[in-house]
Amino acid sequence: MVNANLAERLGRRRKRRRRQPLLFPRRRPMTPTLRFTPTAWAKLLFLRDRGETEVGGFGISSPLDLLLIDDVRLVRQQCTSVTVAFDDQAVADFFDRQVDQGLRPEQFGRVWIHTHPGDSASPSSKDEETFARCFGESDWAVMFILAQGGETYARLRFNIGPRGSLEIPVDVDYRRPFAAADQTTWDLEYVECVHSPYFTSPNVSEVEPPHLFDIEDDWTDWFNFAKPEPFATAQEESVYAPT
Ligand SMILES: [Zn+2]
Repeated sequence: MVNANLAERLGRRRKRRRRQPLLFPRRRPMTPTLRFTPTAWAKLLFLRDRGETEVGGFGISSPLDLLLIDDVRLVRQQCTSVTVAFDDQAVADFFDRQVDQGLRPEQFGRVWIHTHPGDSASPSSKDEETFARCFGESDWAVMFILAQGGETYARLRFNIGPRGSLEIPVDVDYRRPFAAADQTTWDLEYVECVHSPYFTSPNVSEVEPPHLFDIEDDWTDWFNFAKPEPFATAQEESVYAPT
């Protein structure tokens, strides 16, 4: 009886082994990952911890891998513990400088980065509204949030084709050569860009308050500029040149 059962089981195994190979072999789907160079990650941690407020900026993507962040750049902004508002003129100037340095628009206008005080990196309702409104015109974009406590949140959104969005993992890529930390330059960038609406430095008080991006502003034109085609024509330069 025992031998009969064994023979039956072996027979089943033999049958299983004779199964035809799959026409489309199963593979683990590749999950895109937002990666930072160690230098970019160190800079982001420095900027997050430099003051008491949130800070925001743009990820500068590697030309060969748009989800590899080589640098994190701030623009002039007014920040509280729960908000970041970009100066629209500063954003236009930032975009112009990136183009002048030879970067493609998808390298500097698609990865929106900001920090959260506290432990939660979950996007707020205003974060969601801003991401949908301001980045909904580009073919793809990433919202990345780093909380004070270390939690991260990244979501990749496609606005073309079948559309969709997915949360993606975040990693620091140590496999390539990377530059040394430069806290002095990072600190200068922070001081130049991050301001509180409640306190005004002597230098800033003499200039007219900047117009800030807020919930009423329309960033559509701003992100149309960041589309790859057409780009840097004389007509567009005249449209987007700072006035
Ligand atoms: Zn937020």
